[in-house]
Amino acid sequence: MKTSDNKTAKVVAYEASESFAKKMDAEDPLSSFRSQFNFPKDAHGRDVLYFTGNSLGLQPRNARKYIEEELDDWARLGVEGHFDARHPWLPYHENLTDMTARLVGAKPAEVVVMNTLTVNLHLMMVSFYRPSPSRYKIVVEQGAFPSDQYAVDSQVRHHGFDPADAIVELKPRAGEVILRTEDIVGALDQLGGSVALVLLGQVNYLTGQAFDVPAICAAAHSSGALFGLNLAHGAGNLLLNLHEWDVDFAVWCGYKYLNAGPGALAGCYIHERHATNPQLPRFAGWWGHDKASRFQMGPKFNAIPTAEGWQLSNPPIFQLAALRASLELFDRATMPALREKSIKLTGYLEYLLRSIPGQYFQILTPEDPAARGCQLSFTTKGNGRKLLEYLKSKGAFCDFREPNVIRATPAPLYISFSDVYKFANLVSEYVKAETAR
Ligand SMILES: *Cc1c(COP(=O)(O)O)cnc(C)c1O
Repeated sequence: MKTSDNKTAKVVAYEASESFAKKMDAEDPLSSFRSQFNFPKDAHGRDVLYFTGNSLGLQPRNARKYIEEELDDWARLGVEGHFDARHPWLPYHENLTDMTARLVGAKPAEVVVMNTLTVNLHLMMVSFYRPSPSRYKIVVEQGAFPSDQYAVDSQVRHHGFDPADAIVELKPRAGEVILRTEDIVGALDQLGGSVALVLLGQVNYLTGQAFDVPAICAAAHSSGALFGLNLAHGAGNLLLNLHEWDVDFAVWCGYKYLNAGPGALAGCYIHERHATNPQLPRFAGWWGHDKASRFQMGPKFNAIPTAEGWQLSNPPIFQLAALRASLELFDRATMPALREKSIKLTGYLEYLLRSIPGQYFQILTPEDPAARGCQLSFTTKGNGRKLLEYLKSKGAFCDFREPNVIRATPAPLYISFSDVYKFANLVSEYVKAETAR
């Protein structure tokens, strides 16, 4: 499987040694970004080995400073902060637009930061799931994140359809974990004119599989369906080119790879051909209204002809401030450079885990770097939760998802090759002790 813009990096001749990991760190042009983050500490006061950036990213050091600036301006200025704050609140979200566009490969008019992920998913389905009696199905991947399943199920019911009929789940072949692109494309061909919307998580939260978005999007469009993406595990992880790929809409959260804190504001992308169409049905709020006439407070909604036209409320400034601190780091590092490091870093983790004798692991995530981001998911022979507890007691964080999947994620913005080496060493010690019994 090939994803056009997520090329396989040059093969690295890995070595399982601390000196090799240190050498990789010394050659890493992004190594200084680590010091821009606050790490939780272990029992000895050392930085934990933080392999859960797929779940909640670390705090950028500037987040506190940026939020405090807004607290100060609020204290100093009260309502006048809307105009006179150092970063005036009225247009504050515009400070994030260009950085967001670069992050996901979109035009500035195609993106907006607003709400939270599931809210945005619903808002997008209001506009882009408008079923007819003959074209009403939504195609999703089996085992999608529960919130996405609930959202899709409730949208289908809202329109009076039966989820059992209207929701089509793509399943891997018997005995396989990963969905094959050719099977997805084949299913879309077969379903043809009955599909209204194809909605995928770009990176599956459980297996870590990254889909071949351009190929699947083209297949959805040729069957006459719209194509939407959930980038919860894609934004800040993979190289994205949403505009070029012709994706109709996408949504993502701000607290996983984007490090904007628990419950952070989310992102939304709407292809320009839709975003510039004020006639497109939507659920409206005053912040989506034409800016020049918003404060005339007229009764008729007049949509901003960009993705901003889907905004509902005036946004939480402290949350925007936290996200701004993080997006600035992504903008300085750049996604191509992060992705290049990420391929090497996750490749190193995979290499080290595979070197542990005893075939203790089954790695579920595809081996092909083009078919994954930085997360590696694996099952273990023994009880996965026990391994997790051991790692935690040694100051290493990764996570566990039912039924028996461990996810370990070296986020390239703040994880080093030495961290990966130390992490894998702890796993190796545990496996040695377990298999010696
Ligand atoms: C994390 C995640 C969510 C979480 O939704 P919120 O609205 O941010 O709580 C939803 N979908 C996917 C695929 C996720 O990975």
